[in-house]
Amino acid sequence: MKVDYIIVGLGLAGLAFAEQLVNAGKSFVVFEDGSQQASKVAAGVYNPVILKRFTPVWDAAEQLAIALPFYDKIASRLGINIDFPIDIIRPFSSIEEQNDWFAAADKPFFEKYMCDTLFRKKLPFINAPYGYGRLRHTGLIDTTILIQAYKNDLLRSNALREERFEYEKLKVQPSLIEYKDVVATHIVCCEGYGVIENPYFKDIPLREAKGELVIIHAPQLQLHFLLKAGVFVLPLGNDLYKIGATFNWVDKTQLPTDAGKKELLTKFEKICTVPYTVKDQLAGIRPTVIDRRPILGKHPACLNVAILNGFGTRGVMLAPKMAQLLFSHLTEEAFLPSELALSRFKAFA
Ligand SMILES: Cc1cc2nc3c(=O)[nH]c(=O)nc-3n(C[C@H](O)[C@H](O)[C@H](O)COP(=O)(O)OP(=O)(O)OC[C@H]3O[C@@H](n4cnc5c(N)ncnc54)[C@H](O)[C@@H]3O)c2cc1C
Repeated sequence: MKVDYIIVGLGLAGLAFAEQLVNAGKSFVVFEDGSQQASKVAAGVYNPVILKRFTPVWDAAEQLAIALPFYDKIASRLGINIDFPIDIIRPFSSIEEQNDWFAAADKPFFEKYMCDTLFRKKLPFINAPYGYGRLRHTGLIDTTILIQAYKNDLLRSNALREERFEYEKLKVQPSLIEYKDVVATHIVCCEGYGVIENPYFKDIPLREAKGELVIIHAPQLQLHFLLKAGVFVLPLGNDLYKIGATFNWVDKTQLPTDAGKKELLTKFEKICTVPYTVKDQLAGIRPTVIDRRPILGKHPACLNVAILNGFGTRGVMLAPKMAQLLFSHLTEEAFLPSELALSRFKAFA
């Protein structure tokens, strides 16, 4: 089998790069073994405002301007519904925090997103003595539906192999990649935290963070916004809510834990007194780089081996723009901003 590209991994990174290739009419095959879960368990939220400090997310406006049409186009092509706009409400913890919100809401970047009036609606079961701030033009991409539908589409066109990519069988020559029966010109590694087993890129300085979520059933809650306090509470429909997420920098397994569940439910009960039952628990590892920027580029010694990784907590907003940048870099030698380039790290300079 002869293709232009091999992609390793079909999380948000691999999917976004594959979509670049589809649009450019390039041929490719994806290897995916189900070993990492981040993209499948992610809440999928896109929100350009950091709610802890009321500051903008780095590069948010441009990322969103690329990401939303990107997901829309895939959704139309595959006949799926994945973009669900939802407002985010933020209970204030004090009068000072209220003031900080309104000061930020006056600034040019924020006025599109942060409502400049207090959201006063009384929400049963929610403790919010200082009222809420409300964010608009936010939402979520259902990454579970997206990845499953994309996977099925690739299977139909014989472009997906559901197996582990074994680097010991990879042969890299300056203008040729050989792997089992596949011959390609490039390989793009999109393994999330699985990169630690990739001999070309295992030395990228990750500061990965395991994240856990629980799904609860709470028929009386009747929440129609995403509530963001110590945890987020995201309505999923049918009286189900996703509550998340934890950050654990020690545990490297992808297994849900009792400690993770306890932490989430304790924080939930601090803001919400509704009766509920726990239905499910999920976990995955966020591939965060030490400087919290994505990581993309060519391996310095093997220029046809590239990486797309490091999306941390914001894969939904980052993946489409970063895949675009990497594709232009590989095909047209387009410049990669130094804060994103793999070469910013000594081992790859
Ligand atoms: C609990 C939680 C909540 C989150 N919530 C949000 C959110 O609301 N919004 C947001 O934007 N982001 C969120 N994220 C972050 C987001 O999930 C990540 O940024 C993103 O999914 C990373 O995508 P990725 O493709 O780089 O990695 P991954 O999703 O880990 O994908 C890598 C893929 O490569 C495959 N793979 C690895 N090694 C091999 C191999 N050798 N052979 C074959 N296949 C291989 C894996 O099976 C996997 O499918 C959340 C993450 C977690 C854990």
